[in-house]
Amino acid sequence: MVLNGKKAVVTGASRGIGRAIAISLAESGADVLVNYTNDAEAAEKVCSDIKKLGRQAIAHRANVADPEQASSMIQFAVKQLGRVDILVNNAGVTRDNLVVSLRDEDWDSVLSINLKGAFNCVRAVIRPMLKAKWGRIINISSIIAYTGNVGQANYAASKGGLIAFTKSVAQELGSRKITVNAIAPGYIETDMTQSLPEAFREKMLSRIALGRLGRPEEIGSAAVFLASDAASYITGQTIIVDGGMAV
Ligand code: NAP
Repeated sequence: MVLNGKKAVVTGASRGIGRAIAISLAESGADVLVNYTNDAEAAEKVCSDIKKLGRQAIAHRANVADPEQASSMIQFAVKQLGRVDILVNNAGVTRDNLVVSLRDEDWDSVLSINLKGAFNCVRAVIRPMLKAKWGRIINISSIIAYTGNVGQANYAASKGGLIAFTKSVAQELGSRKITVNAIAPGYIETDMTQSLPEAFREKMLSRIALGRLGRPEEIGSAAVFLASDAASYITGQTIIVDGGMAV
């Protein structure tokens, strides 16, 4: 129980990687606010799975791209859980297209949710974390931040931006015992990767040293590590969890 009694907020936790992170944190002893935008039923199911582990869980609808909604979510978490020790900025979307055909709204929505969403939540959580003199912020980036990808210029820019954002905030908050790190997952089995064409999937698998896609729980365990005291001297870093795809 390395996170016994810690209070966590995980954005985009109704499914996929966010769900796995929320459950991994709870398995390690944390109480969790499960954020989502659309699927209230899925978020409630995550909460009931967490409660079965003996931990507190609250579902909360908020669009992280909206500064007011992000801020009230953090205030709600502080009110309900007492404080926020761990913030995981996981909410993310793709709107893929070649740059030549990329619409303004597809650029803007990906940047607003993936990058500005993290900023909105971090800005809102800083004061409560400063007050507590302890905190862990974990931003979910992507291996695409390093490699780029055809059809994903908007997504790659948002995820690369998250890594630069992580390094900057880590330097701002280090003296206050708040660490800020990122995780860059490779290809993980979730709704986001389910619709990949078979030929693309085969090509990708041939590039992954471990020869398989990752499981969401494998990102969950990296998040538990970064949130734990075992990672107390790590800040401003990005852990790549990609099965050896980009070595
Ligand atoms: P997913 O299955 O599509 O789930 C996305 C989650 O984000 C859902 O819970 C969704 O909520 C939530 N969400 C979307 N827009 C939101 C918003 N504006 N405000 C709050 N929540 C929002 O995605 P995933 O594959 O688990 O990916 C999770 C994160 O890991 C993303 O940041 C993604 O970029 C990153 N990542 C994924 C992979 C991969 O291979 N899957 C690889 C690298 C990085 P609703 O259910 O309510 O819509």
